[in-house]
Amino acid sequence: MRNDSAFRVAIFPGDGIGHEITAPTLRLVERAAARTGGLGFDWRPCQAGAATYRDEGTALPGPALAEARAADAILLAAMGLPSVRYPDGREITPQIDLRMELGLYAGVRPVKPVPGVRPVLADARAHDIDYVIIRESTEGLFAPSAPGTRPGPDEARETMVVTRPVCESVFDFSFHLAAERAQALGRPGRVTSVDKANVFQAFAFWREIFAERAAHHPDIAADLAYVDAFAMTMVQKPWVIDVAVTENMFGDILSDLGAALMGGMGYAPSADIGDAHAVFQPCHGSAPDIAGKGLANPTAMILSAAMMLEWLAQRHAAPEAARAGGLIRGAVDAAFAPGALVTCELGGQAGTEAVFEAVGDALERLDA
Ligand code: ATP
Repeated sequence: MRNDSAFRVAIFPGDGIGHEITAPTLRLVERAAARTGGLGFDWRPCQAGAATYRDEGTALPGPALAEARAADAILLAAMGLPSVRYPDGREITPQIDLRMELGLYAGVRPVKPVPGVRPVLADARAHDIDYVIIRESTEGLFAPSAPGTRPGPDEARETMVVTRPVCESVFDFSFHLAAERAQALGRPGRVTSVDKANVFQAFAFWREIFAERAAHHPDIAADLAYVDAFAMTMVQKPWVIDVAVTENMFGDILSDLGAALMGGMGYAPSADIGDAHAVFQPCHGSAPDIAGKGLANPTAMILSAAMMLEWLAQRHAAPEAARAGGLIRGAVDAAFAPGALVTCELGGQAGTEAVFEAVGDALERLDA
């Protein structure tokens, strides 16, 4: 774990554009840390992903998993390649295996557009969008304890798993996050359960536990939404959402909708957090269609690194890490001052290098 001089961070560049956005992000973190004083990093490069599976026959080799377990935090860029698959046709997804192995039940997906990026929604209140989707990340329809089956040539089945301990953990996580946000933003907090309890047993059970945990957090409002209606709310009036907690598959889908409403996959950071470990990773995948072309927007990766610094700051009482995270966020906002930078993803000219350069320049200009 952290020694006096450095945070040990396991680094997984993964596949595709992951390789283009990792090293420059680490350099930005080091520059921010240098400006806020006294933070050191012991970067531990780890090999895992679809290319690793193709070359070595295993997607998440033992030494990489051991490094992830030993690290203070894990920073992961993107994994998976559509052309590399398991014999049963599924894609290689060691990032999901890591969530299961390390018990990372809380997938934190902030939806907060960078202020200068052209808003996707026309309503003036689009600038007020600031909410967090918590995607339960270890069970639901992705539960490894109940893998899909093909009982016969004309049938396939999947099972949704919802268990009490994981629900309690992810609901408590959501209420604590809402309380922190309420304090920081100076307004009441609210957690919305996003489910389909009108149809499925698993979600009726989910709601029972949600009500139990809500009773332990009386200062935070608890409300309920069906996932279909919630998808509409995300488009029609997203400024009313605070923290929304949902099942794994629903969270997978809704967080891509959230990313789209921020401008695209390249703007959406995330974290997968458990009791002892956390992985920080952009919401996007390896984007093989643009890999190697210098077109990837690295903003999601940069903001994921800022989330990592803020999480390390909380866990280790290291305010300098929080300052470095804040500096990176400030630099992203400054780099995207209205009209200053339009990424390729939004039809502009700014590719990977241009974004890193602009954020790096802004980092030097800002007061630490
Ligand atoms: P996964 O299932 O692993 O999350 P995916 O199949 O949803 O991945 P992505 O790799 O995220 O797919 O790509 C979806 C689309 O978004 C692609 O057109 C890709 O080019 C685009 N995209 C993803 N990340 C970025 C990025 N950082 N910058 C620009 N475009 C991106």
